[in-house]
Amino acid sequence: MTEYAIEARNAVKAFGQGDVAVRALDDVSIQIRKGEFFTLLGPSGCGKTTLLRLIAGFETPTSGQILLDGQDITALPPNRRPVNTVFQSYALFPHLTVAQNVAFGLQMLGRPRAEVDRTVERMLALVKLEPMAGRKTSQLSGGQQQRVALARALAPTPKVLLLDEPLSALDLKLRKEMQVELKRLQTETGITFVFVTHDQEEALTMSDRIGVMSAGKLQQVGAPREIYTTPVNRFVASFIGETNFLPAVLGATGAVLGSGDVLALSTGGKTGPATLAVRPEQVRLVPAGEPGSLPATITGWVYFGTDTHVHLALRDGTEVVARLQSGATGDSALTKGEAVGLRFTDGALQILGD
Ligand code: ATP
Repeated sequence: MTEYAIEARNAVKAFGQGDVAVRALDDVSIQIRKGEFFTLLGPSGCGKTTLLRLIAGFETPTSGQILLDGQDITALPPNRRPVNTVFQSYALFPHLTVAQNVAFGLQMLGRPRAEVDRTVERMLALVKLEPMAGRKTSQLSGGQQQRVALARALAPTPKVLLLDEPLSALDLKLRKEMQVELKRLQTETGITFVFVTHDQEEALTMSDRIGVMSAGKLQQVGAPREIYTTPVNRFVASFIGETNFLPAVLGATGAVLGSGDVLALSTGGKTGPATLAVRPEQVRLVPAGEPGSLPATITGWVYFGTDTHVHLALRDGTEVVARLQSGATGDSALTKGEAVGLRFTDGALQILGD
């Protein structure tokens, strides 16, 4: 028995040849646990959909393996895999009713009539669409169509449900509602969900774990809090949330910034040039000259209602943004050109790889 629903081992997918060759996936190894809500997050073109298609069986890897429940399924055709996909476009049958759409996959599998009826009823209750059972799907709103697509994909009880940007066609309010709904469906069914998005907030709020991808490579895998608080490199730190980057040289007791100021910091034995990262909400403004603070000048600010983003410059011009909560000390008495001190929350400074 394995604890993993899906594994990719050294998966490579190349498209085209010679000058036009693209390595959509470049040696990706990943382990997705049974029953988890796993999100593949990354910018357009980073290879998320390609990895999903390898898991579904719509593509075969150039090299490497795909395992389901510990079994090598690399050569298994899509219809023999206990995996279903929900696409962005829903791909419903417009001439069939809601109930007929949900029943379709079960009928294809040759399930007995009574079982099909029972499952359809259960699925429509799950997605709260019982009153719509007899309607044509062309007469439904976008959000309702999305629910039908989910019910249809969940009906045969797949081991893994793949979701390729399923919420991107919905407006913001509906999208937020469906995020909660999807999370509920995953928890109630216990089915492993592999969800693809380029929206970092969506990934942070919904996932048990996130795999961050860039340029065909998996950059980091971890729980949302882990990814946000301890990004492993500059890409992850800048793609998820906002980050200040401070070029520095590490020594035995701390870091020397480009401004010449020294920050006391535990460097874990690392020395030499590095980039420090700190989130704007972990930067505080204190009176200029306060011992241990970093000298800076206020260059401007943007008011966002719940908070204010204060733009600052260190002595060498390095830009730093501090996010002050509205009502917090200092947020209403800012003066352009004013000299201040900066402090960072304990443990907030991260030393990044490249
Ligand atoms: P998006 O968020 O825009 O859907 P993605 O992260 O899902 O992007 P993929 O669709 O996996 O990215 O594409 C990864 C790379 O592989 C891209 O450079 C894309 O152009 C290329 N690619 C994908 N499918 C093919 C194909 N069938 N033929 C040639 N190149 C392809």
